[in-house]
Parts: sequence; C-alpha cells; structure tokens
Amino acid sequence: MLRTRQLGEYRISSLVEFYGPTHAPTVYPDYKPELVEAQRDWLVPNHWNPVMNKFVITIQMWIVQFGSQVILIDPGIGNVKKRSTPRQNMLNNIILVWLEAAGASPEKVTQVVMTHLHSDHVGWNTVLDEDGKWVPTFPNARYLLPKENYDFWKDSYARGIPVPDGGAFFDSVEPVVEAGLVDFITTQKEIAGCLEVEPLTGHTPGHMAFHLHSQGEEGVFGGDVMHHPIQIAYPSWNIAFDMLPDVARKNRATFLANTARSGALFMPCHFAPPFCGYIREQAGGYKFEPAEW
Ligand SMILES: [Zn+2]
Repeated sequence: MLRTRQLGEYRISSLVEFYGPTHAPTVYPDYKPELVEAQRDWLVPNHWNPVMNKFVITIQMWIVQFGSQVILIDPGIGNVKKRSTPRQNMLNNIILVWLEAAGASPEKVTQVVMTHLHSDHVGWNTVLDEDGKWVPTFPNARYLLPKENYDFWKDSYARGIPVPDGGAFFDSVEPVVEAGLVDFITTQKEIAGCLEVEPLTGHTPGHMAFHLHSQGEEGVFGGDVMHHPIQIAYPSWNIAFDMLPDVARKNRATFLANTARSGALFMPCHFAPPFCGYIREQAGGYKFEPAEW
C-alpha cells in the first residue's frame, strides 16, 4: 500500500509491506489490561483488536523525494529471506512494483537510510540474484547506516553471541558493505543533503532518528523509538526488544517532549493506519493525533 503527501518541497510516501493484529500487548512487560482498556476509544479499531487482544503493527518504509533525489528510509523485511519469525519468513511481496509506482524504481534510488539494522529495517537492501547471491537492490544508491549499530552486530557475531535477527546482518547488510555502497553515519549532523541526524539510542545501541525541514514544516522519521501509539499514552513502556531499557525510556521521554513542542509530523515504522501523526500535549501527558492523508 502506497500513500503520498507533501512536506514543504518534499514528496513523502509511506510504503506498507504489511500490517495486522500480530502482537499480544504482553510484548510490553508493563502491560496491564485495564490500562489498555482505558485507551479503548482511540485504539480501536486501527491500533488494537480487542477480539484477539492483539496490537496492530505495521511494517513500512518511507520514501522522500525532491527533484531527482529519491531517499528510502528503513527498507522493510524484503523477499525470500529466511527468518525465525513466521510473519517475516520467506515473504513474496510486490514492494518493487510499488516502488516503481512511486517513481522509486531500483536504479532511481539515490540513498537508502537506516535508523538501525534490525531485520525489519534492512531487508530490501538486497535481492537474490539468479546465482542465489544477495546483491544490492539499489545499484546507484549510497546506503547510509549508523556505525555504532553496525559495530554492535559485527562484534556480537564475531564473538559468537546469538542475536535475534535471523541472519539479516549477513544477507541484507554485509552485501552492501562489501559492494562498497555504504557510508557510515558517525558524527554527521546532516546526511543525504536534507536529513538532520538525531542520535536516539535505546531500542538498539546507536539507533538514530532523522529530521526533515522544509518551508517551515518538519517531519521526523523516528524508527523504533516507539512501536505502537500506546507508548504515547504510556511513555515509560518499553517493548520487550528494547535493548537498553533505561536509555530507551529516557530518550523516548525527551523525544516526545521535543516532538510535541516542534509539532513535527512523526513518521515511525510500525504504527497502524494512518501510519503517522502528531504528538500533542494534554493534561498529564501526551496523546496521538493521527495524520490525514
Ligand atoms: Zn522495527
């Protein structure tokens, strides 16, 4: 599913790989049924399926376009990749067709940007060629990824520490490094000529967010600073996969305060329809205001 909007001079598209009621709320260790029930009015039906008691989670990537520049942010799960999670395993989606429809066919993509290197954020970096080899999907693009997060995975594998990303590092990250297409993000303030870098560690070491400013408007690609809008109501809730729990909590609180103050359009990776929105202050905390497309 492809949806497009304008942010200042930039054309922004959300490209959804899939979404559905896939996650039990217990994926949040602080979950209490009455706390979710208290948010029922705005969670149902888009964000919570109470019949199954499952949160609706999306896998999406973002496309930023201006002139001939085509930036892909957090390129999803990818096709025919062996993964331990069944909903990510051996997919066969028509993402490349949607990319072409968006004017972002593989040869046109100029940058691929990643907030972090989990399997659901790197998959379309590569496709399988006829010889069964993983090769870069976007041959003319520079692939921009956080060095600290790359080093973390590289070091974990080197030391034989089991890491829960089902081999994504080897089939979706290392091939683009080996092809010489990667520029690591270290201390840059801006990348791809328009994205302001915000270090936002917590979900993984070296996780980042990226801000886009144009004609008085602001958008922020927040990666996995949150996985579900329930965390706007309950900012202290970490998802079970947040690797640095205390830092994740602290940085999420700061991110919410900053995003509420700036009024930026928040474009995360995993929110259900309408897939993005605004964080507004309200008595005692924050609320989610879904964006209109
Ligand atoms: Zn994710």
